Amino acid sequence: MRTGQDYLTGLKDGRTIIVDGEAVHDVAAHPAFAPIATTIGELFDLAADPAQGMTATAPETGARTNRINIIPRSREDLAGFRHTAEAWARHTHGWVGRSPDHVAAFVNGFAAHPEAFAAGDRDLSANVLAYHRRMQTENPYVSYAIIPPQVSRATTAHAWDGDFVQVGVTEERSDGIVVRGAQMLATGGPVADEILVSCIKPLTDDDADFALSFVVPVATEGLKLYCRRPFAPAATSSYDYPLTSRYDETDALLVFDDVFVPWEKVLVFRDVAGLRRQFFDTGAHVLGNWQAQIRFAVKLQFIAGLARKVAAVNGVDRFPGVVEKLGELAALTSVVESAVLAAEYTAADDGSGLWLPGKRAVYGAMGLQAELYPRALAILRDLVGGGVLQVPSGVADMRNPETRADIDRYIQSPSAPAEERVKLFKLVWDAVGSEFAGRHHQYEMFYAGAPFVVKGYAFRNYGFDGPLAEVDAFLGSYGVDTP
Ligand SMILES: Cc1cc2nc3c(=O)[nH]c(=O)nc-3n(C[C@H](O)[C@H](O)[C@H](O)COP(=O)(O)OP(=O)(O)OC[C@H]3O[C@@H](n4cnc5c(N)ncnc54)[C@H](O)[C@@H]3O)c2cc1C
Repeated sequence: MRTGQDYLTGLKDGRTIIVDGEAVHDVAAHPAFAPIATTIGELFDLAADPAQGMTATAPETGARTNRINIIPRSREDLAGFRHTAEAWARHTHGWVGRSPDHVAAFVNGFAAHPEAFAAGDRDLSANVLAYHRRMQTENPYVSYAIIPPQVSRATTAHAWDGDFVQVGVTEERSDGIVVRGAQMLATGGPVADEILVSCIKPLTDDDADFALSFVVPVATEGLKLYCRRPFAPAATSSYDYPLTSRYDETDALLVFDDVFVPWEKVLVFRDVAGLRRQFFDTGAHVLGNWQAQIRFAVKLQFIAGLARKVAAVNGVDRFPGVVEKLGELAALTSVVESAVLAAEYTAADDGSGLWLPGKRAVYGAMGLQAELYPRALAILRDLVGGGVLQVPSGVADMRNPETRADIDRYIQSPSAPAEERVKLFKLVWDAVGSEFAGRHHQYEMFYAGAPFVVKGYAFRNYGFDGPLAEVDAFLGSYGVDTP
């Protein structure tokens, strides 16, 4: 199995990652990326440890692979995926959104339905199967960029001023295609091995040039990744910023300057309908978003734990009003925990032998995420009060004996000496108030699509026929002449 060291060594590949106007030459050694690369490496080490039970034999190859690459053919396979995804999420307490299991879950769906990639002008199903086999044998960390740049949402790419703002095909060759343009955001892209580039937002028939799916190694000639401001370098210490200093997975805009993509890496080509088929006719979208809810449940548990601890340290945890707030947080968390399990309980064969988690439960939880996460943060903020600001500026104040004396005296609690109390409140700040926290707020609201899009999934997958029939039957059971 691939180890963390294998993964870290693979990052020295000449990729073009741009931060503050300069290309980063060795991401694994750069302060912006080394922390998250180390964390991802730990995930690989965890999976490679036989004691964790995170591997299985791939039926397609007979080789051992990470369970995240197994196409679920039974409820037990789904449980195996959940255990692995949960073990990884627990390692990062849910603060790494695009761990390798996210895109792997999508690719499992793709490979379970290769026919979805054969219905366009070109049959690309063999490429999809080969890609999945490669995932099983090489266990790469794949990120994805499936949203067009935010130029204007009033129209789609063909109508934008200037050719190929959204990545599109400029040349078709016998050995592959040439692509140019950008795609909005690849979380984890700078430290991923490869990126799946596609488009999940609906396009029109005039957008055929942009109707592509392909996979590229991050180190591909002509591919540049423009990173948002990395937060990890500003983390003055792990004591001051315990989350930022470990889990800052940089989001990056992808720019393709006439990048050559060989045919074997192309999954959808000039096929507007094919873009939708790959996500929604294969089960990929539900599998990938189930992974996201597994991770989200773990993160909410961590936030609930923080709130409970803060309330105890501040000695307010027995006040009825505080219990009510903690109760609400418990309820919010258990809604997502329950949806994850309900999705597994209501899982079914999609008719092809692929087992899919129940869509009603997956999309139900997802549909609430844009309200649920801000609400959880609001409760935590409420409970910490000014405690997150009544902390010394940095760990140096704790190390200096002169300032430490004041801190020990004035920033303590009966159950927590200053060092523990400050540590806890700095962790809470990193969860609710730092730049890292702000980015996470945005992430949970948007990573699976804007809230109106995600609620659309909940609407379409709820199954209103039953409730409607029930209402109609009830309405039919009485009338003006009924006594
Ligand atoms: C932190 C973070 C990480 C991300 N990581 C990834 C990643 O790894 N890979 C990836 O592919 N993408 C990623 N994304 C992008 C994400 O998928 C998009 O943000 C999401 O799909 C929404 O698209 P948008 O941001 O362009 O918002 P828009 O579509 O522009 O929507 C913004 C707002 O405009 C309004 N609006 C827009 N269109 C309509 C409409 N038709 N009807 C009604 N209201 C409308 C709504 O209020 C909406 O909330 C990430 C985003 C964030 C914030």
